[in-house]
Amino acid sequence: MNILRIVYTKKRLSLKYKNKEVYKLNINFGLPTKIVMGKDCVQSNGDLFSSFGKRAMLVTGRNSAKLNGSQADVIKVLEARDIAYVVYDEVQSNPSIDCVRMGAIFAKKEKVDFIIAIGGGSPIDAGKAIAILAKNDITDDELFNAGYSNNLLPVIAIPTTAGTGTEVTQYSILTNDKAKTKTGIASPYIFPKVAVLDAKYMTTLSKVVTVNTAIDALSHSIEGMLSIKANVMTNLIAKESIKNIVGCFENLVSGDIDYVVREKLLYASMLGGIVIAHTGTTAVHSMGYSLTYFKHIDHGRANGILLGDFLKLVNKEKPDVVNDILGTMDFKDIDEFKEIITKLLGEKEDISAEEFKAYSQIAIKAKNIANCSVVPTEKDLYDIYMSSFK
Ligand code: NAP
Ligand code: FE
Repeated sequence: MNILRIVYTKKRLSLKYKNKEVYKLNINFGLPTKIVMGKDCVQSNGDLFSSFGKRAMLVTGRNSAKLNGSQADVIKVLEARDIAYVVYDEVQSNPSIDCVRMGAIFAKKEKVDFIIAIGGGSPIDAGKAIAILAKNDITDDELFNAGYSNNLLPVIAIPTTAGTGTEVTQYSILTNDKAKTKTGIASPYIFPKVAVLDAKYMTTLSKVVTVNTAIDALSHSIEGMLSIKANVMTNLIAKESIKNIVGCFENLVSGDIDYVVREKLLYASMLGGIVIAHTGTTAVHSMGYSLTYFKHIDHGRANGILLGDFLKLVNKEKPDVVNDILGTMDFKDIDEFKEIITKLLGEKEDISAEEFKAYSQIAIKAKNIANCSVVPTEKDLYDIYMSSFK
């Protein structure tokens, strides 16, 4: 008889099935962000916007929030509640420190009470950093190393891509020219207060951005399972996220991406955000940052190209974890996974061995490296770059 046994040890509670340990029930889980999702949920949750003050600053990219209807919906809700607003629409992809410092000067001058960040990961991450800088007079080093008080502007996040999950994370990723890479701010104070998710804003997304962002979300959920901080709850959420994304692969390949597919991707991306809020990301993200910084490769695309070969490295020491991930995706092996990713992402960029050597030296210093359940060496990173771009 296969008995599911609960075993109490001095260290922790674990579950055994067929005498094999399946779960480590040591959990640390929580999320301070309220999540609302559904068609027209900005309008139907308008009162949420009144609870943060009388003056709002909308933080957006240059164009998309104006084109996909999200900015207009938010403005209608604010006007109906006599909330004044200003718009900072200067955020470009992979926002720089200068961009968020300018936003913070604007927020201070306009004496805003809260931020409504609308867009892909770039405007939402910029909104979070502005929320810190508008209230704290600090250096760049202090910004990246939590050298500030918890007196920040509250942030409402409205994602219009389905990839980063930043609407439910404590991270803001900025382009850091001093370190020649992208550097993350990680602070429990910058979790958005509310995440408002409506897939109708994504119907204007191009196929390329849809694919790249979906792969970013997939990467978050897979990396979450490869993190030393993974636990039974994060794995549960990661698997739900992975299944939803892989379930959309055929549509992503064909370009037949309707509202239902968009909603699934948005849901899966938010779940991926909840995962990395608890587990952090791993070497895949550290390595991807150089590809974005030096070669302008989209964030999700960069992760997707590297993911298969990182799985191969982990597979050498932890085949159970990798098999669990492959089983969730319904792929027989890593090569089958790499094949579909290549189909989705197309031809790879031409990058030299010398460049990969330099990127490996940068990536090995990133905080996420120590977060991997199989910690790679600098040589491993170089090998992953080389085989990923073969
Ligand atoms: P993005 O840089 O925010 O946006 C990419 C492009 O998509 C922009 O040109 C944008 O135009 C456009 N766009 C956005 N929404 C659109 C829509 N609904 N319709 C048409 N076009 C639209 O891309 P992203 O991949 O979402 O975010 C990437 C950033 O997030 C990176 O900096 C990455 O490091 C970061 N990230 C953060 C976390 C986190 O937890 N904080 C996690 C992963 C990644 P506009 O510029 O005109 O808006
Ligand atoms: Fe990411």
